[in-house]
Amino acid sequence: MIFELGSKGRKGYTLPKMQVDERRMENLIPEKFLRKKPARLPEVSENETMRHFVELSNLNYHIDKGFYPLGSCTMKYNPKINENIASSSCLTDLHPMQSELLAQGALSLMDELSEYLCEISGLKAVTLQPAAGAHGELTGLMLIRAYHENLGNPREKILIPDSAHGTNPASVTTAGYRAVQIKSDENGVVDLEDLKKHLDENTAALMLTNPNTLGLFETQLKEINELLKSVDALLYMDGANLNALLGIIRPGDVGVDILHFNLHKTFSTPHGGGGPGSGPVGVSEKLVDFLPFPRINKKDGKFLLESNFPKSIGRIHSFYGNFAVMVKAYVYIRMLGAEGLRRVSENAIINANYLKEKLKDYFDMPYPGLAMHEFVLSGSRQKKQGISTTDMAKRLLDFGFHAPTIYFPLIVSEALMIEPTETESIETLNEFVDTLIGITEEVEKNPDIVKNAPHFTPVSRLDDVKAIKEPNIRFDFEQ
Ligand SMILES: *Cc1c(COP(=O)(O)O)cnc(C)c1O
Repeated sequence: MIFELGSKGRKGYTLPKMQVDERRMENLIPEKFLRKKPARLPEVSENETMRHFVELSNLNYHIDKGFYPLGSCTMKYNPKINENIASSSCLTDLHPMQSELLAQGALSLMDELSEYLCEISGLKAVTLQPAAGAHGELTGLMLIRAYHENLGNPREKILIPDSAHGTNPASVTTAGYRAVQIKSDENGVVDLEDLKKHLDENTAALMLTNPNTLGLFETQLKEINELLKSVDALLYMDGANLNALLGIIRPGDVGVDILHFNLHKTFSTPHGGGGPGSGPVGVSEKLVDFLPFPRINKKDGKFLLESNFPKSIGRIHSFYGNFAVMVKAYVYIRMLGAEGLRRVSENAIINANYLKEKLKDYFDMPYPGLAMHEFVLSGSRQKKQGISTTDMAKRLLDFGFHAPTIYFPLIVSEALMIEPTETESIETLNEFVDTLIGITEEVEKNPDIVKNAPHFTPVSRLDDVKAIKEPNIRFDFEQ
């Protein structure tokens, strides 16, 4: 801990002596707000501080260090030019309270980005305000409610397939709707019979993760859409994993009414550790009036922010959302162009299917259909030999890989959900395959080495249940 370094009185800064009388300064703050005892702050030199944090950063795992096949998270490599441009002072020096007329560049960038997202998704209009995927979901559900309320009845329930992302039912509940689960069929896509059973005049929408969390494309979109439209229910598509669809299919063209993007996933912003993100929401024609404000409007060659939209759900973020993430997405889209974006998806799909083919003989695979950008293996064969999916995931760490997502989706037992992303080379993929196959061999011949993994990480296996139930993140000086 940094508190254990340094020594009393050591400083990491050089400042001139204060020219103001210290007693006068103290009098500025009322007595009751003053500390009785000085705060216990680390007393370290500049180089001790630097070394401490560099050391910590080396203990961390990140995409710049190695392969990160965490399913449903799109941990791809993010080009550094995005950061260079997003951190340029001509953008970072802008204040959000500045007059629109002095922020024309920023507004035009946001306007153009919205246009690109409309073009990519086939939808009519986009709001850039939501700060993450789940925030986009909540926004989308508020739009669904506003749409139905405008017709006289907000309705009660939202249908969600059992292969949906976990944030979907959470957002539905937060938005005041009831989540009703729809089964997957034996191929891993929506079971149409079960959908028909639950669909009625009280259904506000179906919320479809596509590709679903099994990594499969929902092939029955046309049938699903016809069923929904027969009761005027809307089709929400969770488009967080749009890196499987860019330039191949436009959700708006196949009946999707609302879609959220995850700019931090598909359009390349580093997002380990929880942020910052951006989850724009695109909508079809009939939902445009309900979008949040302020909205950017171009008038007489000027970009202006307008707030007079009587049917709007209002603001869902302070100012305009996470601008820096938008800049990175903009740079990424401009850099790749339409051709490049399509290749992103083609490579994401090829990489996932390559891994799937290479690994299929070594693991159970309950849904063997063609994968999109990710796929799900089951460790149930290994489990019968006494080795769990957790054990294998921990063993991967010993070889310098991040583990895949495990135990999700819930409909696959001992699940390993692998998303290689499009940015990895064939050499890296082969190394990962060889390592994972090597681990299945260890399960046979040397199970203890897997059971007790990891052996070569800075700390060995942690008690993650205790970490969640009794978090203790405060340094105890008395120890
Ligand atoms: C990541 C993800 C989300 C949630 O996005 P956040 O930005 O983490 O809130 C929602 N749906 C799917 C399918 C995802 O992969």
